[in-house]
Amino acid sequence: MDIPRIFNITESAHRIHNPFTPDKFVTLGAALRLEPDTHVLDLGSGSGEMLCTWARDHGIRGTGVDMSQLFSEQARQRAEELGVADRVGFVHGDAAGYVADEKVGVAACVGATWIGGGASGTIDLLSKSLRSGGIILIGEPYWRQLPPTEDVARGCLASSVADFLVLPELLAFFGGLGYDVVEMVLANQDGWDRYEAAKWLTMRRWLEAHPDDELAAEVRARLSSEPRRQAAYTREYLGWGVFALMHR
Ligand code: SAH
Repeated sequence: MDIPRIFNITESAHRIHNPFTPDKFVTLGAALRLEPDTHVLDLGSGSGEMLCTWARDHGIRGTGVDMSQLFSEQARQRAEELGVADRVGFVHGDAAGYVADEKVGVAACVGATWIGGGASGTIDLLSKSLRSGGIILIGEPYWRQLPPTEDVARGCLASSVADFLVLPELLAFFGGLGYDVVEMVLANQDGWDRYEAAKWLTMRRWLEAHPDDELAAEVRARLSSEPRRQAAYTREYLGWGVFALMHR
């Protein structure tokens, strides 16, 4: 079981697989006023940077679930490197339908809400693992500027303008689900570059090492077109943030 190989190739050198930079996770961890020993569940935990750094900085305990074998292994190595392997664990598997055995204080899905079939379904799924009074964290895109055409939305790799909301509407949407938005930390355009531009050098080096791979033509095409696409579309039109929610 694994995610499509193209992501394991293009994001193999990423520690954070979304437009957050390390300082944003620092800000978010402080903003949440995390108590030591709080259990944090993270669905789609990637290479584990959020759980590992919060275990180091705030003494949380963490469980991450991720379908990429490579990222799960990188997460375990990161936990060793930061000396928190006794506090955080990473499960390689499908997080769809995953409910923790013991209720947690923070239940997160940061940039992988397809796991629950969208933001609303993922909030429902996370709430099943959450103790009463706990916090849900959702990392989700929104339109920084509403795309003027469907072509612009597709340039952002959305299937249509209707895929995302503008920020005030996204916050109102969480309210409509019965949640207070109690914190938010937003990515910025430099963060998008760290996420997107960091793929380009990885792709270039991978192509040099694997010229005959079956994905070489696809990776070559992406490397040729992605810088312009990122500058024209994602960087200008797409926002991204992590939203902290508490049930009313
Ligand atoms: N939260 C992480 C990773 C976000 S990228 C971070 O902030 O860095 C999305 C992640 O979801 C990837 O790591 C991918 O491997 C994982 N993923 C995709 N489908 C999944 C599924 N069905 N179950 C678990 N993880 C999944």
